[in-house]
Amino acid sequence: MKILLHEMRWPEAKEYFSKNDIAIIPVGSNEQHGPHNPLGTDHFIAKAIAEEAAKRTGVVCLQVIPFGVSHHHRQFWGTIHVSPKTFKSYLKQVCLSLNYYGVRKIVIVNGHGGNLNALTELARELREKGVFVSIFQWWPAAGKLLSDIFKPEERGHAGAEETSVNLALHPHLVNMDQAVDEEVRSHPTQTEGITLPLDTVDYTSLGVFGKATTASAEKGRKVFEVVVNELVKHVNLLKNVKIEELLAKPKA
Ligand SMILES: [Zn+2]
Repeated sequence: MKILLHEMRWPEAKEYFSKNDIAIIPVGSNEQHGPHNPLGTDHFIAKAIAEEAAKRTGVVCLQVIPFGVSHHHRQFWGTIHVSPKTFKSYLKQVCLSLNYYGVRKIVIVNGHGGNLNALTELARELREKGVFVSIFQWWPAAGKLLSDIFKPEERGHAGAEETSVNLALHPHLVNMDQAVDEEVRSHPTQTEGITLPLDTVDYTSLGVFGKATTASAEKGRKVFEVVVNELVKHVNLLKNVKIEELLAKPKA
């Protein structure tokens, strides 16, 4: 059975949607990931995790949405970004198109932290419309489930953890000769409790938050397997819950 929506013909899509109310959408970004990783890192990884989970659960998976909320990376060349508002509204229309065919449960596999606020807002809005959206992010899952493989300074943007997953999935796109370890700069006005509207270039010279040189394909494969397993678990749980139990409770 096909699991990628864009590979189905419409009668196949009809068959899937008449029996299933769930779908997976990977989303990411196209942004700098240090001098050694491809710009597509976040959407490549989201796509790979989502498609593998789809294969293992029989849940349909859509095309990856590659552009996200990455304005803060723009000083590094090739970063293509959209506003949170545009991102949310585009994705909302994708979700509502699915809903037209009866989908009421959507798992968004997000590869880029900068998308999270917009995704959370979207999920809340759609819940009001009778569609339940959950958001999966692989790196917090990996941080919890594989806490011993990487140190905190290896888990940052474009660091060893993310680079390792790239090395596992598409090694030909990574140039480890260019990998660097960067000390993240603190802003002179930074004190506890303060959030500042800064860009990546304010914190790093080359776009790597921390240590990247310790990456390996083997570690990346471990991360991939563990996070896919966790996502599969979630998708199977979600599949078996009635939509009525997922929607907002009536007022007391
Ligand atoms: Zn990333």
